[in-house]
Formats: sequence, C-alpha cells, structure tokens
Amino acid sequence: MSIDYGKYELVIGLEVHAQLLTKSKLFSGDATSFGADPNTHISPITLAHPGTLPKLNEQAISHAIKMGLACNCEITRLNYFARKNYFYPDLPKGYQLSQHTTPICVGGWVNIQVPGENARNIQLNRIHLEEDAGKSIHDIEEDYTCIDYNRAGVPLIEIVTEPDLHSGEEAYAYLTELRKRLRYLDVCDGNMEEGSMRCDANVSVRLKGATQLGTKVEVKNLNSIRNVKKAIEFEAKRLIEIIESGNTVIQQTRSFDANNGTTFELRTKEDANDYRYFADPDLTPFIVKDELLEEIRKNLPELSMQRSLRYVNQLGLNEYDANLLTEEKEIAHFFEQSIQFTNQYKGIANWIAGPIKSYLNEQNSSIQNFPIAPQKIAEIVEWIEKGKINFSIASTKLFSALLNEPNATVENLISSLNLEQNSDSSSIEQWVDQVLTQLPEKVKEYQKGKKGLIGLFMGEVKKISKGKADPKITNEILLRKLQS
Ligand code: ADP
Ligand code: MG
Repeated sequence: MSIDYGKYELVIGLEVHAQLLTKSKLFSGDATSFGADPNTHISPITLAHPGTLPKLNEQAISHAIKMGLACNCEITRLNYFARKNYFYPDLPKGYQLSQHTTPICVGGWVNIQVPGENARNIQLNRIHLEEDAGKSIHDIEEDYTCIDYNRAGVPLIEIVTEPDLHSGEEAYAYLTELRKRLRYLDVCDGNMEEGSMRCDANVSVRLKGATQLGTKVEVKNLNSIRNVKKAIEFEAKRLIEIIESGNTVIQQTRSFDANNGTTFELRTKEDANDYRYFADPDLTPFIVKDELLEEIRKNLPELSMQRSLRYVNQLGLNEYDANLLTEEKEIAHFFEQSIQFTNQYKGIANWIAGPIKSYLNEQNSSIQNFPIAPQKIAEIVEWIEKGKINFSIASTKLFSALLNEPNATVENLISSLNLEQNSDSSSIEQWVDQVLTQLPEKVKEYQKGKKGLIGLFMGEVKKISKGKADPKITNEILLRKLQS
C-alpha cells in the first residue's frame, strides 16, 4: 500500500514539567537537593502525617511568575491549590496539590525559529504550580518495588502549550528555547537526563484543511529533546498508517523506547479520570500583589533572544556568532566579562567559538570550569590585533601554555616561549628569498598565471619561520618579489 503522508497535518501539544530551583519543597522545609540517600528528606509534612500543616514556599511562586512573564503570560492574582485525589504508592498523601482551576500563568507564547522557516509564536495554554511525587524504583530488589519519597513535594511548574505545534522540528525548537529561558532565569536547571525537566508529547493527525482535532495519543518517558522529536515523527507515521488502513485511532498513553526509536502502549484511557478535585482546606488562597509582580518584572534578566539581538545591533556581530554566544547563559557571561577588557568583539567571539569550545568539548567540560580568565583571552586578542603574535601560534602554543599555567601573564609567556611574531621586514625578506630560491619551478608557474600558488609560498614561509612571520607583511613581500 502506498501512503500519501503529505495529505495529513500533524498536531502536537507539549506538557513540560520543570523542577524549580528552590532550596526547600513546595509545602515544607525539606531539602530538594538531588542524589541524597533515599528517604532522608521526608518530614512528617511530606508524608502527610495527621496534624501536620503545609506552608507555601514563596520562592516557588516567584519562580513561576518569572517564567510566566518571560513567556508573555497573564499572571493570576487570586490563586489556590486543589487536591487531586488518587492512590499510588509514590504519593504518600493520597493526593497531589496542584493548581487546578487557577493556574498562576495564563496564555502567553514562546517565539521559535526552525532553521529555514519563518519564526512563529507557539501559544501556551497555561503554566501552573504543583508538587512532584516520589519515585518508585523497580530494579533494586527482585521481589519488591522500593520507594524514595525525597522527591515527593518538590516544586514543579507545568508548562502546557495549545495544540499549536506541527512538526518534530518545531517541538525541538520549542523545547530548546523553553530550556534556554528556564536556565537564563535560574528557574530550573533544565536537565532532562536527571529528570528535572520532563516532557510529555500529545500527538494527533488530521487531513490538511480539517478543522476538528484528531484523536491524540500521549507519549511519556522522553528523556531528551532529540527523543521528543523522534517520538513525534514515529507517532505521526504510525497514526497515519492506522487511518490509511481503515482503522480508528484510540486515545492512548504510550512510552518511548529510546533503544529502537519506537513507542509502545502503556494504557488506554477509557474515560476521563475523576480526581475529585477540591480546594485544599489546610492552605489559604494566596494573592499575587502588585508590588511582587513589579519587583519580579523589574529584575527580569535579559533573555538569550534579546541578548543575541543586542550583540548583532550594538556590537556588530553576525547572527551566527550572536546565537552561538547566547546559547548558554554561562558562555554569554564569559563573553560579557571578556569584552570589559577589549572592544575586539569579533576576536573574542572567534576565540570562544574556536579554541575555547574545542577545548571544552575535548575535556567534556563546561565554561564554568575553564581555567583561563576572560581578561587573559581579551589580552591575547589585543596582542593579535597589534600584530605582536599571530592567531595560529596564539591558539596553539600560547593557549596550551596558559592552560597549563593559568596564573602566568600573557606577556611573560609570549616572551619566555619566544612566541612573538616577527614583523621585521628584513628577516621576513630573507625567509621569502629562501623559499623562492628553493622553488624556482613554482615561481615560473606563478608568473605564468597560476596565482593560487601564493598559498604554497605563504605556507613555506610560515614553516621555516616556525609560524612567526607576520602573514600580512609576508604576503606583501611575496607579491612584490614575485612581480619582478
Ligand atoms: P489531558 O486532560 O489528556 O491531559 P489536555 O486537554 O489537558 O489533555 O491537554 C494536554 C495537552 O495535549 C495540551 O498540550 C494540549 O494542547 C494537547 N492536546 C489536546 N488535544 C490534542 C490533540 N487532539 N492533538 C494534539 N494535542 C492535543
Ligand atoms: Mg496530560
């Protein structure tokens, strides 16, 4: 059977849970830190012992509002938490506290850019606060499931889009942008592998031009942005094939199998669950006051997109460099610190994109652990600009010397390692003469019109001068000598 997949439109809505970077849980003083011994962060409040009372963590509210403002949402002023009642072993209280009818952020959008396509705003439905559940661990004991309640009660925001995405690439771009925002705002560390950012993908297909949504499936257990894209693409194809073979899609929850890039059924939803929501009687409603909102608005940091635009408009960098520098907040910070000491913006960008990034990749390290101070990178760039050292020597010999000895001064290293570039025409002239005498045939060919040979002569001068001949002067002398 040949299927025309192009007849169909893909519709996706994403639900992202982001663990908030607070010290303590949403309703108790228990620590939220990752990796502690099991069941060590579990006060009676977390376990909901009789007589305990929850107390709301205000920092979690600020974090949620920050993200809401950064995503153009409306902020709800009068909020309450509802009990979502269900029984599950990882839920010690028998209910989860969640903002059922009053999500703290409503509407909003996130601007995304798929390479080669027009930028688009992805519409959000809401962002609400809720608490996490504990963790069931099935692979420690053969006959039992173990439960760790450390995570129970950790604050989350759930960011829910409208069914407004239409391809795996869009989902990929959206999640990348969302994670950048969470990280720039210090709201969540965005680490999908450790589970501090989790995504469920709701996918359906319909004939192009149709106005009604198709039946959706929800895919869980997606532990990387790349896998979200893969899962969506797999599901889209599978759903179209079901329809094309004359069958009906049934609403399901599925799980992604990262080993082979496919999905499998977890459960089939028959009816909507009845969670018997009601406002938690132990918590009073909370009101977001004007002062708090203004305070947060005033202190919102510059986000990556704004920063990238500023680098293009004010520093004259190209879009590629600007995006690369702002991908991670910490890289952007290193750049900002470096340009305190030089206005060679492009030079610094080249150093970060080139030698520094390759070093970090090689070491599997991050810029926070990079040993050389931004000021020293700025100094190197200045020395290159002044012609005292050339880029190729600086990015190899000087760079590795500094990595070994981050406290040495750039100037001392250049002179002790004898790396200074030779701009003295008379010695360069000698090197040029030497090369041209060694290659008489090539000189003839050049003079007959094979001008590309200039690169060979340049390379030879570089070799015999051990990289120290100033390339600009070398080039001038070569051109002059080759003319005669
Ligand atoms: P549920 O109650 O099953 O969680 P919601 O209506 O709360 O469903 O929606 C959850 C997510 O699924 C939202 O991101 C929403 O945009 C998306 N969604 C809803 N219906 C569809 C559909 N038919 N196709 C794709 N996504 C959908
Ligand atoms: Mg859902």
